[in-house]
Amino acid sequence: MTDRVVAVLGQGVVDPAAALVDPADLGVIRGDAVFETIRLADGRLDAEEAHLKRLVRSAEMLDLPAPDAAACGALLASAGAAWGDRGEASVRLVYTRGDGTTPTCFVVVEPIPEHIYGQRRDGLRVVTLDRGLPADAGNGRPWLLVGAKTTSYAVNMAAVRVAKSRSADDAIFVSTGGEVLEGPTATVVWARDGVLHTPPVEVGILAGTTVQTVWRNAAAHGLGTAYTRASVHDLHAADGVWLVSSVRGAVTVVAIDGIGRGDSGVTAKVQSAAGL
Ligand code: PLP
Repeated sequence: MTDRVVAVLGQGVVDPAAALVDPADLGVIRGDAVFETIRLADGRLDAEEAHLKRLVRSAEMLDLPAPDAAACGALLASAGAAWGDRGEASVRLVYTRGDGTTPTCFVVVEPIPEHIYGQRRDGLRVVTLDRGLPADAGNGRPWLLVGAKTTSYAVNMAAVRVAKSRSADDAIFVSTGGEVLEGPTATVVWARDGVLHTPPVEVGILAGTTVQTVWRNAAAHGLGTAYTRASVHDLHAADGVWLVSSVRGAVTVVAIDGIGRGDSGVTAKVQSAAGL
């Protein structure tokens, strides 16, 4: 059985085998919910405040009642305590519209998937996929929910499956204009001449928490930082490219669209700046 802790708002930690999802929950049937995935290590949740802030912002974009950040924090703490000393874990906090009258919140703690350890060690291959939207698609179109972290990830998961069908591990979305956007579950970071770059959120991507951590710690590792709009050509020309996200940390991209990349020698610094 999967090693798992489940905690539900108003109930606390529950038996994971008995935890039921309401079949009428709009998060389940329509993906009408928001979530955060947080890394738990050494009994601490990485960047908890930034994750809770983004949850509140995502909920606002979906016109959900504001989640009670203190109650969510307490739920996270009880789930983390129940996980105890089982080691590094992935913590998923979901805030869903429920049946349409009462939103609810639950937390699931699980071990880090095995393939993540492999990617941290060996890197990963990506393909670039056209997201089918211009970089400014979100401007004046709040219904696109650009920048909200919703559970409507079927498109993102389809992109990963397409990547796998093309002998890669993951994808990088580009706009219809060919601008680098983000991975299905990660922010794109690249290095050029000692400066780390990432696209600005204005291109229509999620504001990542991990990239913020890397940016905060970059100077201590002798690296500059910049928000830069880029093409896939810029990624090929970079000294190093990484996918960064909360649970995986910073993972080296070793090939883009079948074209291999050398080791930049910067990966250890980027991983350390990401807190791994
Ligand atoms: N972009 C997308 C689409 C994501 O789903 C994620 C994380 O899941 C990220 C970026 C990276 O965000 P974070 O660093 O907060 O995990």
